[in-house]
Amino acid sequence: MSKSSECVKVIVRCRPFVKTEKQKKCKSIIEVDQQISQISIKKSDNSYKTFRYDAVATMESSQVDVYTNSAFSMIESAIQGYNATIFAYGQTGCGKTHTMIGEMDDENLKGIMPRSFEHIFSVINSNEKPDDRKYLVRCSFIEIYNEDIHDLLSKDPRKKKEIKEDPNMGVFVKGATMSIAKTLADIKKALALGSKNRKKGETLMNKDSSRSHCMFTVYVETQESIAKSDKIKVGKLNLVDLAGSERQKKSGAANQRLKEASNINLSLTSLMNVISALVNSKKTHIPYRDSKLTRLLEDSLGGNTKTCMIANISPADYNFEETMSTLRYANRAK
Ligand code: ADP
Ligand code: MG
Repeated sequence: MSKSSECVKVIVRCRPFVKTEKQKKCKSIIEVDQQISQISIKKSDNSYKTFRYDAVATMESSQVDVYTNSAFSMIESAIQGYNATIFAYGQTGCGKTHTMIGEMDDENLKGIMPRSFEHIFSVINSNEKPDDRKYLVRCSFIEIYNEDIHDLLSKDPRKKKEIKEDPNMGVFVKGATMSIAKTLADIKKALALGSKNRKKGETLMNKDSSRSHCMFTVYVETQESIAKSDKIKVGKLNLVDLAGSERQKKSGAANQRLKEASNINLSLTSLMNVISALVNSKKTHIPYRDSKLTRLLEDSLGGNTKTCMIANISPADYNFEETMSTLRYANRAK
């Protein structure tokens, strides 16, 4: 068996200053050394704490740089029939959605999801593939809010969905929409529809999407005829935009908000517990069952799969506490 630690890649990406930080005249507390994949954070006593990761992205790193360094090989393995997962982690406002989606139709600013879709369809449509190979691409898009699962591609995304387990299908969301994508345009449409539904839910149900995880999954099924018998394999690519990792302020938070906060903590903590148990080969028990997120990802974390965690941070002194906590979280995944 391959060592899991080689299959988990952790990348830290520092975004540029945003307008509000410039207005507040925030100072940078982050130094990045890309050569040795190191990030240093300046503490209040002016000393630095340093961390090393598998790769780091600077303020200047482009979307295509991040894609090439993080996602490219994962998409390749999903096309070959393996499961792969990419997570965007970090405090709200630090670039998770920019990294995952970005500006869909902007050549430079489009993020990992539109680039993955293009990658998959370019392989499928390429003239070099063997003639007897057929592909079927399907996708699903779900949201986990307060430990409830919602189908973002359904007519009524407000309905709660249940997790089921089946000897053949493994763990799945019962009744979740599986959209067939024949073309690149189809799969982009599914992403747009789900994003719109997520926004709609935000207003209708007074939800805050920074408090939910969303997961877009692409299923790539390949059918190949070998010696007159059909061989089918399915690779799964999970693209996950996690809930904001910021600590919720206790004062003034209503019961509902506190419950949400503890559910976010639960799932981010159990995600880390699963990843660090996988990386630490001495641990035999992998605690998948502790949250909905890790349960759903059971067949995509560990074993023959690939995982990439992109931890997003701000460079500003103003965010010191949260940035430190993100750097520590990312450090535990190694
Ligand atoms: P999150 O999803 O983590 O809450 P966003 O992706 O919405 O954060 O990013 C917050 C803001 O910062 C957005 O205006 C986004 O365009 C900008 N931003 C984030 N990362 C980058 C980056 N690498 N380069 C330029 N702008 C960025
Ligand atoms: Mg976001």
